[in-house]
Amino acid sequence: MANNIEAIRGMKDYLPEEIVLWQRIEKTLKKVLDGYGYSEIRLPIVEHTLLFQRAIGKVTDVVEKEMYSFDDRKGDNLTLRPEGTAGCVRAGIKHSLIYKKEQRLWYIGPMFRYERPQKGRYRQFYQIGVEVFGQEGPDVDAELILIIARWWRELGISHHVSLEINSLGSMEARARYRNALVAFLVQNKEHLNENCRRRIYTNPMRVLDTKNSDIQALLKKAPVITDYLDDDSRFHFYSLCELLDLSCIPYRVNPHLVRGLDYYNRTVFEWITTFLGSQSTVCGGGHYDSLVEQLGGRATPAVGFAMGLERLVLLMQTVNPYFAVSNRIDAYLVVAGDKAKREALQLAEQLRDALPSLRMMTNYGVGSFKKQLAIADKQGARIAIIIGENETSTLQVIIKDLITGKQEKLARLDLVSRLISFLEIK
Ligand code: ATP
Ligand code: MG
Repeated sequence: MANNIEAIRGMKDYLPEEIVLWQRIEKTLKKVLDGYGYSEIRLPIVEHTLLFQRAIGKVTDVVEKEMYSFDDRKGDNLTLRPEGTAGCVRAGIKHSLIYKKEQRLWYIGPMFRYERPQKGRYRQFYQIGVEVFGQEGPDVDAELILIIARWWRELGISHHVSLEINSLGSMEARARYRNALVAFLVQNKEHLNENCRRRIYTNPMRVLDTKNSDIQALLKKAPVITDYLDDDSRFHFYSLCELLDLSCIPYRVNPHLVRGLDYYNRTVFEWITTFLGSQSTVCGGGHYDSLVEQLGGRATPAVGFAMGLERLVLLMQTVNPYFAVSNRIDAYLVVAGDKAKREALQLAEQLRDALPSLRMMTNYGVGSFKKQLAIADKQGARIAIIIGENETSTLQVIIKDLITGKQEKLARLDLVSRLISFLEIK
């Protein structure tokens, strides 16, 4: 017998049982975004490799080690997107979206990074991301943080996540800080690993983003960017802190927070949790005011963030397991006889029109009555709606309570109002 073909390492199947929670979470996230007037954008999964090299930065973990890149049949070098911002900016420039005042966009979809798979870290994973173009902030930075805080409240996990913020300042401030940091790293060269040593000159800020705990401890003594901020960035940052204070959003200023991608400046932030081991960042983002220009557009300030949905789902399963309702349905339509079969489809459609929140499955007369009722039970239906031969001529219907086994016969005209009261739906 042939060997089974396995899925690719780090790429999961998402089974129906788990999807219930995913859908419920996504619905909640989208509802909040809708409430703030943000619009969805859908972008290609594959882009030119150059886009990510230019946007994310060549000397970053993502571009150096994590991208799925390949030549297509024509020899163009393409990459499965490792994140959504670059593609969103590319599309925004092409369609002149980002020059319209106050463009606020969101997207959701799979991202790909060749990483070592472990809990909360996969090679294909989903992100929901938000990007706002044309606003300097800090009010819009605060708005993004407030959106996320509202998500936590709606998901019932506010107490299990915390916010860290920092400012990376202007490009000039970063250059001044970079010199001080390089001097520190050179002094402590023997305590760094090879990767960090190599980055001292190519991209020293990336060393701050290391996952190595010994090096992290050493970095506690490194100079902090806060001491090098330009006046405008300092004002921007303190104004954001003030807005967060006014909105009663707790946060911690973490001067070592730099984020893993090169395009950030000024505000950066992360929401972290202690419930996911070393995959502690659920969501992160910040300003990237030079990216639009860097990718060929007109200089436009921008700010955004992305959240990893697998990490959010894991967190929900750990701290709020009762969030997802089961995938029980309300009603199962059981039919017997040819005439009833013909009527079933129509009746089901009428009920769906009248009761948009009704969750109902229809059996078009496959199998005996008994068998159909057994399926209704298996589907976890609360009731069965039954049309037999008799009920076709009398224009009636039977409702069977699948918990108590009680049956009642009623006129089809009364069915909608009876379902409303029985199932407590609208
Ligand atoms: P980490 O430091 O954990 O590698 P990152 O800084 O690389 O995260 P971002 O590029 O900022 O992550 O992506 C935003 C979010 O996407 C992360 O906070 C995380 O929730 C999620 N994410 C990133 N990489 C993965 C992955 N390989 N598997 C699952 N989720 C991921
Ligand atoms: Mg990473």
